[in-house]
Amino acid sequence: MSFFGRNRAPRARRSPTPSRKDSSNPPSEPPSPGGANNGSNGNGLGGGSKPLYLCSPFADAALVKGNFKTIVTLPKYVDIMEWVAVNMFDFYTNLNEFYGVINETCTQHTCPTMSAGPTLNYIWTTSGPGGRQLTLPAPTYIDYVMTSIQNLIDDENVFPSKSSTFPVTSAQVLLPNINHFADQSFHPSFPATIRTVYRQLLRVFAHVYHAHYQQILHLRSEPHFNSLFAHFLAFGREYELLEVRDIKGEPVAPVGVGLLWERWKDAGILEG
Ligand SMILES: [Zn+2]
Repeated sequence: MSFFGRNRAPRARRSPTPSRKDSSNPPSEPPSPGGANNGSNGNGLGGGSKPLYLCSPFADAALVKGNFKTIVTLPKYVDIMEWVAVNMFDFYTNLNEFYGVINETCTQHTCPTMSAGPTLNYIWTTSGPGGRQLTLPAPTYIDYVMTSIQNLIDDENVFPSKSSTFPVTSAQVLLPNINHFADQSFHPSFPATIRTVYRQLLRVFAHVYHAHYQQILHLRSEPHFNSLFAHFLAFGREYELLEVRDIKGEPVAPVGVGLLWERWKDAGILEG
């Protein structure tokens, strides 16, 4: 029996309403303009100065204090597939709402590429055989990501809302943590699908931090956004969805938020 279907909500993309449940006592003021980032793409990483999301107090602002391990641990009697599906749905929904709030500042002009660091631009690969690689403006890339995930959520064969009888077998190869608990209502390819979804959502997080953190600060939403991202990272580590190379990038093209991940690990907020 799946409870996922009952939680399913209509897509709320590009919502004009900020998803703000953050502190009524914000710990910080938005930074003054005129720094390395004046609304253009990037938060100054390329200019030799630290990006704002790595600076105190912004980097440490959070709604949730302490380690995220307890939040991501599989509750007793809950099927692991259901747990992963529901959490991924929530990450998608929350990130989509955040992006909906700041998306007016993410245009083809401000973000001609899907950037996530001074030397990192993600490339979109089209689906199907012989997939082509496309350099897309960030808003187009993100729209493709969100649309493709919404289509998966709407697909009963991927995110079932009721039980069916898929064989359990191949989930074991793809996502070892899921093996012993695999729910037969999920397709065997579910772990691989979820890994792809996770990687794409990580890229959206990485772009928002890199290119739009100023807007997050102006909304005073950094505690909320940081906590959402830390939760996302902790969940990814717990269920083997997060690849280290995806969060750190390559030496010549590091992911900006890779340093935030390191910082939160050092602070004991995230597991190693
Ligand atoms: Zn952008």
